[in-house]
Amino acid sequence: MKYDTIIIGAGPGGIFSAYELIKLNPDCKILVLECGNPLNKRKCPIDGKKIKSCVKCSTCAIMNGFGGAGAFSDGKYNITNEFGGNLYEYIGKKEALDLMNYIDEINVAYGGEQTRKFSTANSSLKKVCLQNDLHLLDASVRHLGTDINYIILENLYNELKDKVTFCFNSYVNEILDCETHYTVKTKDEEYQGNTVIVSTGRSGSKWMQSICSSLGIQTKSNRVDIGVRVEIPAAVFDHITSEVYESKIVYRTKKFQDKVRTFCMNPHGVVVNENTNGIITVNGHSYEDENMFSENTNFALLVSNHFTEPFKDSNEYGESIARLSNMLGGGVIVQRFGDLIRGQRSTPNRISESFLTPTLSATPGDLSLVIPKRQLDDIIEMIYALDKIAPGTASDDTLLYGVEVKFYNLQVDVDSNLETCHPGLYVIGDCSGVTHSLSHASASGVYVARKIAQSQKEKC
Ligand SMILES: Cc1cc2nc3c(=O)[nH]c(=O)nc-3n(C[C@H](O)[C@H](O)[C@H](O)COP(=O)(O)OP(=O)(O)OC[C@H]3O[C@@H](n4cnc5c(N)ncnc54)[C@H](O)[C@@H]3O)c2cc1C
Repeated sequence: MKYDTIIIGAGPGGIFSAYELIKLNPDCKILVLECGNPLNKRKCPIDGKKIKSCVKCSTCAIMNGFGGAGAFSDGKYNITNEFGGNLYEYIGKKEALDLMNYIDEINVAYGGEQTRKFSTANSSLKKVCLQNDLHLLDASVRHLGTDINYIILENLYNELKDKVTFCFNSYVNEILDCETHYTVKTKDEEYQGNTVIVSTGRSGSKWMQSICSSLGIQTKSNRVDIGVRVEIPAAVFDHITSEVYESKIVYRTKKFQDKVRTFCMNPHGVVVNENTNGIITVNGHSYEDENMFSENTNFALLVSNHFTEPFKDSNEYGESIARLSNMLGGGVIVQRFGDLIRGQRSTPNRISESFLTPTLSATPGDLSLVIPKRQLDDIIEMIYALDKIAPGTASDDTLLYGVEVKFYNLQVDVDSNLETCHPGLYVIGDCSGVTHSLSHASASGVYVARKIAQSQKEKC
């Protein structure tokens, strides 16, 4: 039960730290503890027929297990310091980009060779956006697609499974600093490790908070983003998505001077439910395989909310709004843009008579009863702004699903090695509050693995 390194969480952060550690030091004894299932046993019971909504499994197959929250995601690896996290503030912009490119090479080598990489560099879209008071952020993006993303994870697991000990269905309750080593406790077992990498993602946010307070690690409040998922006919955004695939477009609203941004664009994709700590919100993904294309494109419109004294629990604010939509709609609510503007509820009849077929079965309702006025006005203004570069976005039939919430973990106090005040205890990926994307979380894993391997070498 004694290991050189114990990794908690088998999301991208945990997987890539194990990958790099074993590559740099093949004799290293590594244990990965993951509360969810192995990849092949991750199956959400919602089938749309017998089980239509979340039955609150003990661990969520979508969020937990090998591959983490991103396992069934669209697999968009954005290579940029402009969004997806603040890793560059800790390790420098060049190193952060180098690491994201390194992750890209691994993804390509493990099954992504046929996938495409898009870039906003020299895109004509940038000028069109600027002419309409919109701002396109610079990035390259490798779109793996949900199908290829899964294959890469399968290949990475096969690469690691004989070199690293994986314990699934192992929820870590406690980490104890025993001065010479760390003790990590699950319900039934205790493990000792010289170093510990915590990579428990967003689903482990509450747990992370309790670990930080038990170990005396400082944390800072972070932001929460609230908005909707927009679904339109794919043709409306085709000139944008075929050129850059994923466009992060930012707009400053005239009314409140808030920034609204597009997020997670899924050409020909589908809208899906997401379960965070039992609260159902909305998300989206798409496939690389054209046979699995839908006729729609979806993306999120998000407004960031930062809080200062006396309120600092930004996640609780986001959860309360999501809970409200769950209370009124039994889950996610869908509304036609035209109904929202006219101040009327969408009904099953209005949805079925519209020209756009929803890809998610959600409850027709009224988002103005759920989303606060400020954020809702911001979103409406942004939809009209986008309509100038993609006419049809502000159509009556455009579907808005709510709510989409992007929770960010509290910012954990880590140094430039992503190490806490406890030597040898590292916090990486989304649970650190430093990253909030596949590429940044993965890059943070490689970064910490290299730091650990270097200090192991120095000790030898
Ligand atoms: C539907 C969806 C689509 C997404 N699409 C994209 C996308 O296209 N591009 C992008 O950049 N990002 C996307 N994201 C976000 C991305 O998935 C995350 O940023 C990324 O997975 C973070 O990686 P991580 O390793 O930090 O955490 P996670 O992937 O969340 O992994 C953490 C792991 O730790 C485990 N864990 C938690 N607590 C414990 C505990 N106490 N004990 C043991 N194990 C524990 C969890 O089960 C989980 O498997 C998407 C997210 C979702 C949900």
